[in-house]
Amino acid sequence: MAEVGNELQRQAAEEHQAQTDGFHLVIDALKLNGIENIYGLPGIPVTDLARLAQANGMRVISFRHEQNAGNAAAIAGFLTQKPGVCLTVSAPGFLNGLTALANATTNCFPMILISGSSEREIVDLQQGDYEEMDQLAIARPHAKAAFRVLHAEDIGVGIARAIRAAVSGRPGGVYLDLPAKLLGQSMEAERGRQSLIKVVDPAPRQLPAPDSIDRAVALLKSAKRPLILLGKGAAYARADADIRALVEKTGIPYLPMSMAKGLLPDTHPQSASAARSYVLAEADVVMLVGARLNWLLSHGKGKTWGKPKQFIQIDISPTEMDSNVAIAAPVVGDIGSCVSAMLDKIGNGFAKPGADWLGAVEERKDKNLAKMAETLSRDVSPMNFHSALRALKDVVKANPGISFVNEGANTLDYARAVIDMYEPRKRLDVGTWGVMGVGMGYAVAAAVETSKPVLALCGDSAFGFSGMEVETICRYNLPICIVIFNNNGVYKGIDVNPTGGNDPAVTMFVKGARYDKMMEAFGGVGHNVTTPAELEAAVNEALRSGKPTLVNAVIDPAAGTESGRLTNLNPQSAANK
Ligand code: ADP
Repeated sequence: MAEVGNELQRQAAEEHQAQTDGFHLVIDALKLNGIENIYGLPGIPVTDLARLAQANGMRVISFRHEQNAGNAAAIAGFLTQKPGVCLTVSAPGFLNGLTALANATTNCFPMILISGSSEREIVDLQQGDYEEMDQLAIARPHAKAAFRVLHAEDIGVGIARAIRAAVSGRPGGVYLDLPAKLLGQSMEAERGRQSLIKVVDPAPRQLPAPDSIDRAVALLKSAKRPLILLGKGAAYARADADIRALVEKTGIPYLPMSMAKGLLPDTHPQSASAARSYVLAEADVVMLVGARLNWLLSHGKGKTWGKPKQFIQIDISPTEMDSNVAIAAPVVGDIGSCVSAMLDKIGNGFAKPGADWLGAVEERKDKNLAKMAETLSRDVSPMNFHSALRALKDVVKANPGISFVNEGANTLDYARAVIDMYEPRKRLDVGTWGVMGVGMGYAVAAAVETSKPVLALCGDSAFGFSGMEVETICRYNLPICIVIFNNNGVYKGIDVNPTGGNDPAVTMFVKGARYDKMMEAFGGVGHNVTTPAELEAAVNEALRSGKPTLVNAVIDPAAGTESGRLTNLNPQSAANK
């Protein structure tokens, strides 16, 4: 009798083993496509999905708020060219993640937001389910693509479509809706295995038309005062060697947008960063490489752009052309293919720009660099932004391989100009929206994806949006050093309530707050510093030890300007101009 019982048990176990379910199919499909990390926040109905992902060898980083997990996934996508995956619960968790998904789409970062959702039958009849929401409809306008999977046998297709949509052409954010019931659906394991798709060539090269290359090279050759403008699309494309060769072969001055800094070292002799206003105004032909003429470039017109000019634009998205001003020579294709085609066409026959143009750029650069050096060398007490940045500039120079995350208003604007970057994709910042709150998500993903230390420089206001993730950083023991430029408020820390009432002014924070204690609360290292030397020593110690560290850098509350460099975007200030 006992033997028959054992046999039945064995058969039942075999049958059981021969089954798979929605949970496992999602995990298997991601792993099959080389996706190893999930950034998310567990809860109904995805807790077991997160647990099983970890049990099956994926790295699952659990955050304290979905927006930060989403930002982590987005920047993981930028850093790896694979879609970063964010996993959230339904309704509110999904909405929290959606901000990051929209930010990813805006920045052209490949990301997949996977959210559990409640049952279609109940949602569609609006019968009031737990966390009921028509998530797919809400996600669609904020994503490059949005899909829902209802049957376990379609999970392979759903994930394949999400991956292709995220990374092909112009990258972006993709939403994948997984109703709770789907995850529990079971099917025969072998059939399940066969339903999965390993995506072949997810981001196919897109070769530019040869005549578009001829046109672009002819225009570049005709220029008297050419300029190359590198954007974060160029950094993302990983065509680093060819981009450098194109810049050096043509001898044309170049400007990096903030996240393209380090594509060539900022100390490169052809970098025109220190003469930015001059070259933008004076150039006659500007070649954009993976950069859009959006607000960050004054839409390609107006005073910033001064003299009339013609544009060459290299971009994977054909509809980007002429979106703000006429593009005389559009080159549509992936940056790697376009730049290498231009190099082929140029061969050895490119006459470098005239000495008058290069000399004028050099003169401006020298003048501005000398002015900057003088500003940085001033010792002031309490520290202002520049004296504090002098310390961090030296740290990054000595540690060029670390990731540098940067958010804030003044803390962002000044740091962008002061801190040189030496390697590609090391500067991660507020991007196309100029948004705050990306700091801790970006820092976590940079540490996870690169396995190298991260220095995250945040204004005290910016840090507040994602500050609770210091617990996440401690929990995963990540080599992240956060520096907070603490001037007691938004922009500045000296505003007063105009009514004379007891409430503080709207831009004020608690005076003398000790953010370093937050890190200590979770077992990390905290420092409170008041001089550039203390700041430099604290950051160096953090980089050496690899321990989660927060440095509260006390900055003069009167330092800083309203909205950093964006004063013109404040309706009141603009009206008063
Ligand atoms: P920045 O903010 O640095 O100026 P943008 O985000 O405005 O950069 O522009 C990036 C551009 O790069 C987008 O228009 C996008 O279509 C383009 N892009 C992204 N990846 C590639 C690629 N692999 N090849 C060509 N263009 C790309």
